[in-house]
Amino acid sequence: METLHFPKPAYKNYNTELRNKFGKRVQKISINAGFTCPNRDGSKGYGGCTYCNNQSFSPNFTKQIVSVTQQINQNILFFEKRQSQDQYYLAYFQSYTNTYGSMKDLKQLYEEALSHPKISGIVIGTRPDCVSDELLDYFAKLGSKTYVMLEYGIESTCDKTLGFIQRGHDYACAEKAIKATAERGIATGAHLILGLPGEDRNNILLHAEKLSKLPLTALKLHQLQLVEKTIMAKQYRTHPEWFHLYSKEEYLQLVINFLERLHPDIALERFISQSPLQMLIAPKWGLKNYEFANMLQKALVERNSWQGKYYENNI
Ligand code: SF4
Repeated sequence: METLHFPKPAYKNYNTELRNKFGKRVQKISINAGFTCPNRDGSKGYGGCTYCNNQSFSPNFTKQIVSVTQQINQNILFFEKRQSQDQYYLAYFQSYTNTYGSMKDLKQLYEEALSHPKISGIVIGTRPDCVSDELLDYFAKLGSKTYVMLEYGIESTCDKTLGFIQRGHDYACAEKAIKATAERGIATGAHLILGLPGEDRNNILLHAEKLSKLPLTALKLHQLQLVEKTIMAKQYRTHPEWFHLYSKEEYLQLVINFLERLHPDIALERFISQSPLQMLIAPKWGLKNYEFANMLQKALVERNSWQGKYYENNI
């Protein structure tokens, strides 16, 4: 009988890691818990990051219209209609800065999510300058009982870029937060934008080398998207020469080269995102993350390449 050969995954896939850990499919449920962002209200900066469309920012917790429990119930209903009922769910505190509040308020929100019978863990999206030792100790304690991941917006490892995009923190701050999180045994994720103004291919590949030195569990990559009603949209209209907008083919090549330099233990959660079309100025690829991931896997196999192929050279 003929033996069928399937190509080995050429990169470490975070969703597969989660499935292996939990023993079945894991679906993240996005929660908007009514947070705002310290990079808007003046405590870290005003105006926000230049790429962020923050019109819909909630000024405070009171703007949370639908409770965490209601959001979980609505989402589970949605997923159970479309997908299998036999899957686990993680509550993903996604919108804005989800550690920006008093310990009392934060604990109440996270524990409301965790008390839901169908929730098996939480993922908290935040900024690296918005975590304290007290909060990380709390997450470590929580993590001994359930799945907890902290996901940090790093966006770039280059301080000049971070200044230009008005992040309000430097790369050292991101390194410190990631190390402090991982050393407590908490799963640690990061988010990076590829193609920010002032960064060429070499700068971007350097991000892979720098991030490889950090104890990251997972990484999300995103192409730079220009979105309406952002500072960056205005900059693009007045200074288009500051921007290099990648075609999907060129971005695919960039991601391959990035992965080749990345530590093989860092799992990849996504490679692209797609803002709502009515808000998106460019690039308009019309591509979903899973479609890009399929293209990437195929291209890596065809080129006999894989995540970490040149990682050893970086050490
Ligand atoms: S990108 Fe995040 S940190 Fe920056 S302004 Fe928007 S919500 Fe705040």
